[in-house]
Amino acid sequence: MMMRAARGAHYRLQRWGINPVNITNSELDRRALRTGFKSLRVACGILAALTSLAALAQQNVQQKVDTVVTNGKILTVDADFRVVEALAINGGRIVARGTRAEVARYAGPNTKVIDVKGATVIPGLIDNHFHFTRAVERWHQQARFEGVDSRREALRILAAKAASLKPGDWIMVQGGWTPRQFADAPGGFTLQELDGVAPMNPLFVQEGYSLVYANSLALKAVRLNPADGARRNATGLVSFQPPYALYDAMPPASPAQLDQNLSDFMHELNSTGLTGVYSLGQSKYLADRAAKGPLPLRLWETLPVFASDPASAIKAAALIEHSRPNQFDGQYGIFGLAEVLYGPFFDLAPRKDPWPPEIMNEYGKLATAAAHAGWHVHEHVINNSAVTDLLDTLEKVNKVQPIDKLRWTLGHVYDISPANIARAKAMAMTLGVHGAAMQAGAHMPLRKIADSGIVFGLGTDATIVSHYSPFVTLGWVVSGLDVGGNRVLDETLTREEALIAHTRSNAYLFFQEKALGSLEVGKQADLVVLDRDYMTVPVADIKHIRPTLTMVGGRVVFSAAPRLHP
Ligand SMILES: [Zn+2]
Repeated sequence: MMMRAARGAHYRLQRWGINPVNITNSELDRRALRTGFKSLRVACGILAALTSLAALAQQNVQQKVDTVVTNGKILTVDADFRVVEALAINGGRIVARGTRAEVARYAGPNTKVIDVKGATVIPGLIDNHFHFTRAVERWHQQARFEGVDSRREALRILAAKAASLKPGDWIMVQGGWTPRQFADAPGGFTLQELDGVAPMNPLFVQEGYSLVYANSLALKAVRLNPADGARRNATGLVSFQPPYALYDAMPPASPAQLDQNLSDFMHELNSTGLTGVYSLGQSKYLADRAAKGPLPLRLWETLPVFASDPASAIKAAALIEHSRPNQFDGQYGIFGLAEVLYGPFFDLAPRKDPWPPEIMNEYGKLATAAAHAGWHVHEHVINNSAVTDLLDTLEKVNKVQPIDKLRWTLGHVYDISPANIARAKAMAMTLGVHGAAMQAGAHMPLRKIADSGIVFGLGTDATIVSHYSPFVTLGWVVSGLDVGGNRVLDETLTREEALIAHTRSNAYLFFQEKALGSLEVGKQADLVVLDRDYMTVPVADIKHIRPTLTMVGGRVVFSAAPRLHP
């Protein structure tokens, strides 16, 4: 249903060109008039009613708000994909939208007016699959290659990080890149390169889980011989896990450093346009920070459930049944169960044979407990063969304990078949499409997903197997190209479909469609001002779009001086 509306809007936008659509009355006024007509019906005399209507209109004209965002091409991402020029914001919520003139009436002497000078504005971007805390814990040591398509630039980033640290301090790149993203010179890193950029600092660069490139100082710290080269694989160092030997060689972050890292990483994500992420995991320091006041980033977390065999599954089911689902308070809170409900059902490689019944039976018991208690489940499932087995189980669960009000999400789904999309949709399930698929080079059936009408949201699976930049993700799904310009998708989305999936559809996944995901009256003022026009910039440049301002609940959480682009 959403997709049909989006495609209709696409054609309308093409017809209208890129000019903002003027709406004749701001919505608050229309609402006020409706309220006025209602009072007309209940009033005892016509004259009295007209008087009260006039008074109401007058009162609305005089209402002043704390913030106005104006002079923009504001993509509201509402059901009509309406474009407006201005928003009036009060107490963190949007109270009116419309033309500059219409919204100007809400500005008083104490109103903060943000003139975006014609820039494109979009709703805050939400990532539905993010390993957040692992990035926070090492953030002070990290360099990143988000959207970097040149090897020379990547080496410059490492050298700059080394220059910002004391000799001996560790530097790491916690994944999120692929060797093919360096269009000028694809490939991993040599010892000479890494020693060259960081001669005084141990440095390692993770490539996903399975490979790492380390310089001489880092290799010596874990008693490996630099003469064997920078590139290391599983044996002794990496085994489908982060390179723990290297991690263990680094001094742990102090509590004060961790606190600083949390602030810095949330700011980093705000600077990419993110206003909310589903943080898979649960952590006390996030809860402590959230208790101190509003976060600059809305954070959903998961209930810590561990079920690795039938005995632990019984305990896990009891915890699920006795815990309150969706404790998200608008800012922060445990939301759902993710991303592996039953440990043994962990889908990595395609399988010839179906998953064994003893594993799927245990999965079914946990799923039944989750459905009974009203929990949302976001399940890691990469291969279509595993999707088939999972849906077989969930269809049985659904007959006993319906899941069709819970919006359960199949996350990753690299090669999901049209038949399985239809089966998931029949249970009102949703899909999570993640940037990790770009890095894996998976040719996802995005057109089939979009045309099916199932609700799907975008995310990344950052930070090891994926970048975290939403504009890298949007660029990938719209252009079909990875960061290095390699074609990795045969089926792409329209710009509107992609933006809906990164905003409104994710709000739906989290049951926040009344508060988040689009710029409409009554919703939270979570928005991003862009340095280029998302709707008209060449598709290959979407990945380079940079926010100049990010707002969460009416508060500016990031701002940068606008840069000039040719
Ligand atoms: Zn996963």
